[in-house]
Amino acid sequence: MNDARYHFAPNQSDPPTIVGGEGCWLHTADGRRILDGAGGAVVGNIGWGRAEVADATRAAMVHGAYTVPIWPTEQRLLLRDRLVERWLPEGFTKVFFTSGGSESTDSALRLARNYQLGKGRPGRWKVVGRHPSYHGMTLGTIAVASHLTRQRGFEPLLLPFPKVPWNDPEAMIEVIEGEDPETIAGFIAEPITGAAGACLTASDEYWRAVTDICHRYDILLITDEVMCGFGRTGLTFGFQHFPFEPDVIVGGKGLGGGYVPMGAISARTEVADVLAEAGLMYFTFGGNDAACAASVAVLDIMEREGLVDRAAKMGAVLGDRLHAELDGHPAVVEVRGRGMFYGIELNIPHPEVIAEALSRDLWIYPAGSGPVPSAVMVAPPFVISDDELELLVSTIRSSLDAVVAR
Ligand code: PLP
Repeated sequence: MNDARYHFAPNQSDPPTIVGGEGCWLHTADGRRILDGAGGAVVGNIGWGRAEVADATRAAMVHGAYTVPIWPTEQRLLLRDRLVERWLPEGFTKVFFTSGGSESTDSALRLARNYQLGKGRPGRWKVVGRHPSYHGMTLGTIAVASHLTRQRGFEPLLLPFPKVPWNDPEAMIEVIEGEDPETIAGFIAEPITGAAGACLTASDEYWRAVTDICHRYDILLITDEVMCGFGRTGLTFGFQHFPFEPDVIVGGKGLGGGYVPMGAISARTEVADVLAEAGLMYFTFGGNDAACAASVAVLDIMEREGLVDRAAKMGAVLGDRLHAELDGHPAVVEVRGRGMFYGIELNIPHPEVIAEALSRDLWIYPAGSGPVPSAVMVAPPFVISDDELELLVSTIRSSLDAVVAR
């Protein structure tokens, strides 16, 4: 197996070559088994090696044909109906498919502008983002987010989108007033900040105030559920933990479960109905039939095995065990999160911790930016067993101990 570097990240250490996976385990070319403590990039909700997802994908490929994304196909309609009937909150009836999180958040930015255009307000083009946040790697999503290391080198940012602190509604009002409310189209937020903030979580009061502010200024409230959505936090969507009423829901990652590139956005019907004629256009591979079929199979598994509830139940155990092992640890600033979505803020550099964990056959995900300089995410597949969960927590603990001891 040729392990030569194939990516464009010259400063990364060489990761192992992966030849397979099963459940919560990754198999390497040199025979190791690595516990996947982060579902890859917080993607693998149903775990690895689910043949029925492959079967559904194959059937769609054998029977299907490529058609432009604005044409309905059987697979697109099946996924749309499944999302509207069983996953999306009431009032969200339209779905736009993409091939991942960045395309979805970028489309939400365009949707916000298009909505304002439809309302006869072409001067409203800015979408307000939060410090810290991550929304993807297109130039639009880099500009609306605040993730310092991932923005570095791309300045000047393509669009001068205003930013507000993650937890301060008064500051949000000041920024909107300072920018001129007649220029603001939307506000985008992760309900629980993922890799940028390692599960920073604002208060109920904050979300109530944010909802009011968005109503008052008539700007769209966009929830980025790319990481938090599809059960990751123990509820279907992350915003459902809070008194929070989004106009637009953005999804990716868990929708395809890591098996296919898949993303989607949905808007309240009354928002979708006023979109200007230009609409959103499409990505050539948005709503790819095989990807839609795979996503339906992923959602089937989630439903049949009650995996959202399992994420809540096992997530409570995960939280208890992480707090018990790590609260007060010399390398740990804070453990926070819910469901299968935990961040560990560190006072030591995360690359060392991640490398140490990997040397002990555990994968955890790098996190942190701005006010959270160093952190890791712990976000295993929802199917993790009690023994695997115990191994996950004890390996994080021993990895941190080893780094501190050096
Ligand atoms: N939004 C959030 C909250 C994310 O965490 C990510 C990826 O980590 C994205 C958007 C971008 O998704 P993708 O990497 O699939 O383009």
